Amino acid sequence: MTSRLSALSILKSQFGFDEFRAQQAEIIEDIAGGQDCFVLMPTGGGKSLCYQIPALMREGTAIVVSPLIALMQDQVSALKSNGVKAAYYNSTLDYDAADQVLMQLHTGQLDLLYVAPERLLNEGFRQQLSSIPISLFAIDEAHCISQWGHDFRPEYAQIGQLRQDFSKVPFIALTATADHATRQDILNRLQLKQPTVHVSSFDRPNIRYSVLEKKQPAKQLIAFLEARDAKHESGIVYCLSRKKVEEVAAILVEAGYSAKAYHAGLPGHVRQTVHQEFIRDELNIVVATVAFGMGIDKPNVRFVVHYDLPKNIEGYYQETGRAGRDGLNSEALLLYGTQDIMTAKFFIEKVTDEEQKRIENFKLSSMVEFAEALNCRRSVLLNYFGEPHHKSCGNCDVCLNPPTLFDGKVAAQKVLSCVFRLEQASDQSYGIRHVVDVIRGMDNERIRQSGHDQISTYGVGKEYSADEWNSIVRQLIHLGYLYQDIQQFSVLKLTPKAGEMLRGEVEVNLAKPRNKAMRGSSKRTRSTAHANKAQKEDLTDAQLETFEALRVLRRDIADSEDKPAYQVFGDVALVEMAMHLPKTDGDLLKISGVGEAKLAKYGFEFLDLLRSVEAS
Ligand code: ADP
Ligand code: ZN
Repeated sequence: MTSRLSALSILKSQFGFDEFRAQQAEIIEDIAGGQDCFVLMPTGGGKSLCYQIPALMREGTAIVVSPLIALMQDQVSALKSNGVKAAYYNSTLDYDAADQVLMQLHTGQLDLLYVAPERLLNEGFRQQLSSIPISLFAIDEAHCISQWGHDFRPEYAQIGQLRQDFSKVPFIALTATADHATRQDILNRLQLKQPTVHVSSFDRPNIRYSVLEKKQPAKQLIAFLEARDAKHESGIVYCLSRKKVEEVAAILVEAGYSAKAYHAGLPGHVRQTVHQEFIRDELNIVVATVAFGMGIDKPNVRFVVHYDLPKNIEGYYQETGRAGRDGLNSEALLLYGTQDIMTAKFFIEKVTDEEQKRIENFKLSSMVEFAEALNCRRSVLLNYFGEPHHKSCGNCDVCLNPPTLFDGKVAAQKVLSCVFRLEQASDQSYGIRHVVDVIRGMDNERIRQSGHDQISTYGVGKEYSADEWNSIVRQLIHLGYLYQDIQQFSVLKLTPKAGEMLRGEVEVNLAKPRNKAMRGSSKRTRSTAHANKAQKEDLTDAQLETFEALRVLRRDIADSEDKPAYQVFGDVALVEMAMHLPKTDGDLLKISGVGEAKLAKYGFEFLDLLRSVEAS
């Protein structure tokens, strides 16, 4: 109990937060009490505090193993802003700086030391560790130890040995990787001692998921940004290819957005600049391949757009999870087109290992099911991760704007019989576009030459537009009445199930297609899950003005200290300040994210500004 109390007082005084999030308190209590822990929490869930607070509660220095150098520097600098004694030890330090850190470690001046895994190989360093009091070992991104994971690092292999060398020190392993095989593998390899396993919900209630049928994607992207009023916001746009990344970045710049490209083909220093500028709010939008992401610990990313279909839900979830780590409302938009499925299938076909191919196909079809879902998207995602969720979330496009269903039997029969007649007439199958052209009775060269204007289904479907027929065909594929033969130019073929539909034995409801963003999509409806959090959308115009002034002050201070703005204060803190207009030190301490160190450092300047604002 006493440890819980002091954990809470550390949370308040050092980090400025009032309460623990789900699981944090239990995890901290376990590890502070010397118990090994395994923590599975989604990105943005708040893993860092789970070892940072016990590090301050226990005797000695906490050793944090982390694979990402950029993240290490970020975390250390954030901790220092909160008055915590932290340092890192990795290959970026020159000889003197490294020596300095080892000296601090040796003389007990550090609460936390972040260490790159390869440093643990160094015998001298290990010796040094065994000669000082260590409060705990934290293994961040613990999935890196597993070959099953998507991010295997051979340097992580020796961590299992550490557990044996330091048998009296508690270990905490943390990851956001959910799948079962990886989870089990991590536990085996780390050899944790009867760890308590803490699995948090993977739901991110503040992220709104929406999907649009891809059609003029550049326009759709810009319309989305305009609807959000995104000129002052941070966001990421993911594309599958480097070429597309360059194109989309150029389109955004042309449209007046602050945007830059990021992909593995760019020189290291360019990538680094983009990363830095983004973290520091000097660049609003990064258009990137999936190469951009690991190490993006920026809490105020307000939107993530997938311009192309991701290969699987794991990737999609991880990428969208980079939005809204601060808990404020954020959006994830997926542009979803048939061509993308074809491209993905094309690559899967090249995989030679049959088992691997089967897995990738399964993952792709789960992704497609998500994109075509007619029920709550959050339910689809969470169910995929084995976390049953049967309620409608109220914060995804399907819940907010349920698709209009129509009786699709006649339309389905038209499509299926058209596919059948075309095959009969020409002894071959055709792709979606040609089938739709024939149904709609188009007059073009290809139709005339092949005589397809003579078949009985020519022109039977003038009631719908080409887009609408495209959507109907896709839904029929999804429902298993048609399939696309990817080995033959993606031509459409009937499945055995098609017979029932053609004979009129089954009913089918289809959804009307959508390709425009919901109106007012950036506005939120309050869902109970995050109802008590102050949100920027709740600010009045006068309060918004204060918020902007606070942002400018934050930027100035951050620039002068050469650090990212959010390390001064996060957006949540600024929203609360604009709302409550604190006038005294005591008032300011009540704001989320204001602890004693930051009060001492920045309190004067912020109070000065806030005192000049009249309450309205
Ligand atoms: P993760 O490592 O799990 O991705 P972080 O540890 O970076 O997540 O935390 C994400 C964000 O949530 C950070 O901005 C952090 O300050 C904030 N946070 C964590 N715990 C709390 C809490 N108890 N109250 C308020 N904010 C919190
Ligand atoms: Zn929903």
